[in-house]
Amino acid sequence: MRNGEVSYWWQARGVPPRRPSLPGAAEADVCIVGAGFTGLWTAYYLKRADPGLRIIVLEETFAGFGASGRNGGWVTAALPGSRSRYAQSVSGPPHGREGVRELERHLRETVDEVARVCAAEDIDAGLVKGGTLSVATSAAQDARLREHLEHERAWGDGPGIVRYLDKNELAERVQVTGAAGALFYPDCARVQPAGLVAGLAEAVTRSGVLLYEGTAVTAISAGRARTAAGDVRARYVLRCTEGFTAGLPGQHRTLLPMNSAMIVTGPLSDAAWKSIGWDGCETLGDEAHAYIYAQRTADGRIALGGRGIPYRFGSGLDHDGAIAAATVAQLGRILRRMFPVTAEAGIDHAWCGVLGVPRDWCATVTMDPRTGLGWAGGYTGHGVAAANLAGRTLADLVRGVPSPLTTLPWVDHRSPRWEPEPARWAGVHGLYALYRAADRLESADRSARTSLLARAGDLISGIPR
Ligand SMILES: Cc1cc2nc3c(=O)[nH]c(=O)nc-3n(C[C@H](O)[C@H](O)[C@H](O)COP(=O)(O)OP(=O)(O)OC[C@H]3O[C@@H](n4cnc5c(N)ncnc54)[C@H](O)[C@@H]3O)c2cc1C
Repeated sequence: MRNGEVSYWWQARGVPPRRPSLPGAAEADVCIVGAGFTGLWTAYYLKRADPGLRIIVLEETFAGFGASGRNGGWVTAALPGSRSRYAQSVSGPPHGREGVRELERHLRETVDEVARVCAAEDIDAGLVKGGTLSVATSAAQDARLREHLEHERAWGDGPGIVRYLDKNELAERVQVTGAAGALFYPDCARVQPAGLVAGLAEAVTRSGVLLYEGTAVTAISAGRARTAAGDVRARYVLRCTEGFTAGLPGQHRTLLPMNSAMIVTGPLSDAAWKSIGWDGCETLGDEAHAYIYAQRTADGRIALGGRGIPYRFGSGLDHDGAIAAATVAQLGRILRRMFPVTAEAGIDHAWCGVLGVPRDWCATVTMDPRTGLGWAGGYTGHGVAAANLAGRTLADLVRGVPSPLTTLPWVDHRSPRWEPEPARWAGVHGLYALYRAADRLESADRSARTSLLARAGDLISGIPR
């Protein structure tokens, strides 16, 4: 089994030759720090809207080295945050429910926008829009599905946006051992994330954007991004570093680098696929408190992810995605419990990465026209589609063009800062200890009650449900 090496996605696709580093001090109209989905989509839409703009993207390692090249490959319309919090967002015009509905509508359209660009730019990312299944594997999880459905209906989401599938309807799509039912959301596509980010980086450089790799930005201030090779001076400097943000001066408590870990099986036999089904390539998750997410890959495997070690003290990062053996074993057990037939294929590769979590679990897109400083991120694990919408929004904000995007409730949203250490470490680890204990209790107990431990965890953490 390979461990780390950034991700299976990159190993399967092949890491492209490194692009040149910044040769020395430079000037641009827009300087973007970080070449993941947020930075690249922003560059993509800015250049299309105004081909004359001089845009420089600075990337510490290589385009797609971060979460964008390591994720579960769900291009999901799921809201990165809490509806009620966005509705109450105090910055800018009052948003209310209508503002939140607008943001959700744009996120749903974004799934198709990503597919459209893949087709237009000839990006081979194995994209299939099969929707997503949130599967219940215990009575308590099934009860939560029904609560979610009621909540969605109360917000006006009809059966075209979410519907309940009973055990038999689910089994017609995919055979998950012990499943009691599922919610089906049509607005999600599966991708090979490294394929998407690599294709996007190529499209961006083709359009004339300068992308420098192996170039770490050490500080950002109005009009300037500092690097060891010299400063890039630009009217606009955009921070697109999501889970890595804590490494920049002054940003230590802005976004918590939450870890997420993944495994991928070897290719499954035709007989195994026959018994599992899953011909629609829906992305698939569960309703556990320490939830998992999975996809049927374009090359006939199952990739499955979960939390692993949730957070490293002092906002520490992994080394090229290497993960602990205990996490591989834990994810492997879940995989074999849901799909026993995968035991035949073994696990080929395991890796992890960091995503950015704000203290109130709500994402932000912002640009201060006075200083020219902007940033987007904090998508709390729902960043693949959201980064596209955020990139389009940042592009409009930089160009100063009022648009339906620039008034969405996550624009200028302000999240509180995280607690200093050791409270931050203790809080996150305590929370996930509660969630894991709650999951164990719920699977042992046949009643449909959500464990009080999980309710306590939600209350303490402020995680939106
Ligand atoms: C394992 C895992 C699974 C996930 N699964 C999903 C999923 O299925 N669906 C979903 O919607 N979301 C998922 N997410 C979240 C999603 O991948 C991220 O939210 C999204 O990719 C963030 O994109 P980004 O461009 O903002 O950040 P990143 O992709 O992390 O890019 C940031 C870039 O900035 C660079 N950088 C950092 N610091 C500096 C610096 N100082 N100077 C220069 N460059 C710098 C980094 O090297 C990196 O390339 C997952 C995340 C992980 C880790």
